[in-house]
Amino acid sequence: MAARAGREAPILTTDSAISQIPASADATFLPGPVLLLGAPGVGKGTQAQLLMAEFGIPQISTGDILRENIAKGTELGKAAKELMDQGQLVPDQIVNDMVQGRLTSDDVHAGYILDGFPRTLAQATWLDTHLPIFRETPPLVAISIRVDESELLRRITGRRICPVCKRIYNVYSNPPANDMLCDIDQTPLQHRSDDTEAAFTQRMKAYESLTAPVIEHYRASNRFREVDGDAPVEEVAQSIVAALKSLRESNS
Ligand code: AMP
Repeated sequence: MAARAGREAPILTTDSAISQIPASADATFLPGPVLLLGAPGVGKGTQAQLLMAEFGIPQISTGDILRENIAKGTELGKAAKELMDQGQLVPDQIVNDMVQGRLTSDDVHAGYILDGFPRTLAQATWLDTHLPIFRETPPLVAISIRVDESELLRRITGRRICPVCKRIYNVYSNPPANDMLCDIDQTPLQHRSDDTEAAFTQRMKAYESLTAPVIEHYRASNRFREVDGDAPVEEVAQSIVAALKSLRESNS
């Protein structure tokens, strides 16, 4: 593991890492804190963006915050880049601090979607004790997205991302209309430096040894549902919304 980032270094958890919430969101259902769990490439980011639009709660992606720190050349970004490119996890303390900083923003009271966190049992334990409590917010729930492993590599190597609006495309299953430009803002799409076959193999190893136990941790609770991520994107989104509503009913 690489050396920890200097703790005095600023950690970017604001500005563009804070997702824009669309005005059309359904404000009648209070989703509360939602964890989106699953292997690399199952569609956590895509589904988090759809949930953000559906419920008007922010997506908090630890991967996005780390990539933003890399793009801005912060100490944290420099420490994280090599680990990320190799498909390894960034140390728990660094990501815990990032999440803690992000959860102090005012936009998390009705809930939020944690995308890519927790990824280790130590992060899950930390979250259990550091979750901010707001009077109006229901308890945390966890949704695991399951996808056949043979499909994951194709999803990862085909993924392209708009660096401006963060919209996710796939050259095989969901290409942009116009060559390699974002449909929304015409920005050239990017290929993540860890979306290679070599890094994917390493990311799957980290997932199996460190993150799969996190899924079992939540599965053992009454705050967990698993959905089939092999279906079309919109169907997966509907399954997640249905799972969230049923979890809220059974936990109210
Ligand atoms: P993601 O965008 O969620 O696929 O994350 C990309 C990479 O960022 C991961 O492969 C890790 O190197 C790092 N990362 C993101 N979230 C975490 C986390 N919760 N714990 C440790 N490393 C993380």
